[in-house]
Amino acid sequence: MLADTTTEPLSVYVHVPWCVRKCPYCDFATKPGTPETIPHQAFGQSLATELDLRWPEGHGLASVYFGGGTPSLWDPAELGAFVRRLDERRPATRAGSSAREHALRASTAPNASARRELEVTVECNPSELTLCLALKLRDAGATRLSIGVQSFSDKALGFLGRRHSAAQAEAGVNAARGAGLRISTDHIYGLPGESVEDALATTKRLLELGTNHVSAYALTIERDTRFGELARQGRLPTIDEGVVADTYLAIEAALDAAGFTHYEVSNYGRGADRADHNSRVWRQESYLGLGPGAVGTLYTPGWAHTAAVSPNNTSGRPTTSADGADAIGPHVVEPSQHRADAPSDVPPPAHRWRNDGSVTGYLSALGARRLPSADTESMTHADIGLEALILGLRTREGAAIAHLTPELRHRAHRLHAAGRLEQTPTHYRVPRQAWLHLDALLRAL
Ligand code: SF4
Repeated sequence: MLADTTTEPLSVYVHVPWCVRKCPYCDFATKPGTPETIPHQAFGQSLATELDLRWPEGHGLASVYFGGGTPSLWDPAELGAFVRRLDERRPATRAGSSAREHALRASTAPNASARRELEVTVECNPSELTLCLALKLRDAGATRLSIGVQSFSDKALGFLGRRHSAAQAEAGVNAARGAGLRISTDHIYGLPGESVEDALATTKRLLELGTNHVSAYALTIERDTRFGELARQGRLPTIDEGVVADTYLAIEAALDAAGFTHYEVSNYGRGADRADHNSRVWRQESYLGLGPGAVGTLYTPGWAHTAAVSPNNTSGRPTTSADGADAIGPHVVEPSQHRADAPSDVPPPAHRWRNDGSVTGYLSALGARRLPSADTESMTHADIGLEALILGLRTREGAAIAHLTPELRHRAHRLHAAGRLEQTPTHYRVPRQAWLHLDALLRAL
């Protein structure tokens, strides 16, 4: 059966690009800015215009994520005005209720028995996160704060070049809790000289503070960063990969014992708590990316088929009578572009854009009601299939078979036959004990 994606609810990602200063490990698209220098109103107006230009009519809203950069530097009153604007773009659910009331409505997310609200996440730096700000963000429509704790060791925070102290990180988590918001906490481990016990001290403190979601990342040295430069000069202390692997396993065990589900390589949620927005992106659902440097992807309705694949058909090919009498399950019909008789005017399965990364260019394009895209791309089924593996195999659910080309299904099937991938009726997935070696497995694909 074809998925009816014509009324698929859309997620919205807003990139707030400013940071007070650049952290030496960070390769995100950021710009220098402080609350005094950010063009708060002009940015809000530009976002509103971009939303008007990009929003396809007739869709509901699935989730909202303000990322960056440092969204907690942006005036919460402007953020609230934008959330209200999003409400206005939702004809199916508008019906006279406020942004806050919408936020408290039943979530459209699957497995959301523990979440009865639309997810509106705002990334926050502990340096700004007071109870006053948390309350303002809540009143603006935020339901969840993603807090860049990173560590409860002042020494580690100093090495990472963070602006906050361990005490401020703790106060930030308490402020978010005090405002009654859902909390996600970021933790960076695997620092030079850091022991497993050092890193676990942060995990344990996060648990004591009552976090329900942890994003735990091993420090990676990216080429175009200050740390990358220091590493090239031989001036960065080396990282012991064995300790990093042991730390990964120790954090997983500690969170597992505390009732968390390890649902993505770097993400853990207590009970049913999940990052709904991120999960949608990993499942390859459409999202609008707004703001300087933001990326958005819209999938064409009906681009993939969502029927289950028979566990008996592990050939990577669609099931046909020639596959034998034991091919009893529902079968996957290839997307139309894979068929030899596909009409040449079939639209691409997805369309992606990347916005101009310059704030001036972004504001000026939208001031003239022009889209601020720097690049646009028509994605192929092969592009989407590769992303399905890269994104999906990092998750507990796995990569949707219906999103893979025959060639990729064949490669995945070979790894399944070799015992390196598991197969469910709808997905290929990596056995959890092999998540530590995910990069090698992806290379094998
Ligand atoms: S605050 Fe976050 S986005 Fe900004 S430079 Fe540091 S790590 Fe990067």
